Amino acid sequence: MMTKDQYIDSLRGLHLNLYSFGKKVENVVDNPIVRPSLNSFAATYELAEDPQYEDLMTATSNLTGKKVNRFTHLHQSTDDLIKKVKMQRLLGQKTAACFQRCVGMDAANAVYSTTFETDEACGTKYHENFVKFWTDVQNNDWGVDGAMTDVKGDRGLSPSKQADPDLFLHVVERTADGVYVTGAKAHQTGYLNSHYVLVMPTISMREGDEDYAISFACPTDAEGITLILGRQSCDTRKTEEHNDIDVGNKVYGGHEVLVIFDRVFIPNDMIFLNGETQFAGMMVERFAGYHRQSYGGCKVGVGDVLIGATALAGEMAGSAKASHVKDKLIEMTHLNETLYCCGIACSSQGTKT
Ligand SMILES: Cc1cc2nc3c(=O)[nH]c(=O)nc-3n(C[C@H](O)[C@H](O)[C@H](O)COP(=O)(O)OP(=O)(O)OC[C@H]3O[C@@H](n4cnc5c(N)ncnc54)[C@H](O)[C@@H]3O)c2cc1C
Repeated sequence: MMTKDQYIDSLRGLHLNLYSFGKKVENVVDNPIVRPSLNSFAATYELAEDPQYEDLMTATSNLTGKKVNRFTHLHQSTDDLIKKVKMQRLLGQKTAACFQRCVGMDAANAVYSTTFETDEACGTKYHENFVKFWTDVQNNDWGVDGAMTDVKGDRGLSPSKQADPDLFLHVVERTADGVYVTGAKAHQTGYLNSHYVLVMPTISMREGDEDYAISFACPTDAEGITLILGRQSCDTRKTEEHNDIDVGNKVYGGHEVLVIFDRVFIPNDMIFLNGETQFAGMMVERFAGYHRQSYGGCKVGVGDVLIGATALAGEMAGSAKASHVKDKLIEMTHLNETLYCCGIACSSQGTKT
């Protein structure tokens, strides 16, 4: 597994083609708007180094038998699912932000089982491809962005019926060695802090959508990829001097980018779905199921910090004993613990696929 420092150094080796405010960003790692999100992602490495969190932050790989960061683990039991939610609450408490590594974990678990079922039905080799790729991810402790959301265009039309063919990411050319893909994925959490991107379809597909039923992985700095950093309100405050007092959570944060693919080449062994339209929906639903479970942990951890901060603000303002302030703190705690209960309950009720 990588240490936090090794992880940050590894990001310096990426050549991300990122634009922000209309300009190319030459140094992504030290960019003041990106950096808080990098610090949050790095916490997934830092906490895995701490012996007191070993049980939550690490697991034994079913692929290699080695100890891996739980963010790269393929769930083997309901105990794994429960520990995943508890790990996410811990990270939320430590960062009070999105730590971004869940999307790739949820994507991997969806693609792992969907490729198995696709191969059984279609005689393809996607599961073998995915296991090889994910073994590399675990052995190198890479960060992986999970890319599902297309820009979509007319929500009433299927991908192949859109006026602009690039509104859903699709195959534009097939060769003996692989495929070229064009399109975009929107709102990509943690992409800039990841080594690889794992792409999936965004909706169920039907006959005629074969070129859009595509899943694959590639390096985040692959040739043909352009990134546009998403704006957030007050983001330029992070670039100002003497800003300690008014940027809120100064150390940690999140980001999303628009990822534009322009004829990006994907070799055959990195393809996990290619034209089997009937399995696009399964991949989407399995990802969405795992991702909703994630929110039963990560948002609860952030909620813990917000509730504590609210109580502290009440104390400092001398209003902590007011009944309407207490009512609101109780309501926040009630909602937060209910969300956590949902995450733990769905985990404990899981069954083997
Ligand atoms: C902070 C943040 C982080 C994110 N991170 C990631 C990430 O890491 N990876 C990723 O892949 N995605 C990510 N997303 C994307 C997220 O999953 C999508 O925003 C979400 O699925 C909604 O899609 P959309 O934005 O295209 O909205 P739309 O699909 O356009 O939905 C807008 C509204 O229209 C309704 N609607 C849409 N289609 C129809 C229809 N056919 N009929 C009737 N009503 C319809 C919806 O229910 C909704 O009310 C992120 C989003 C946010 C906000």
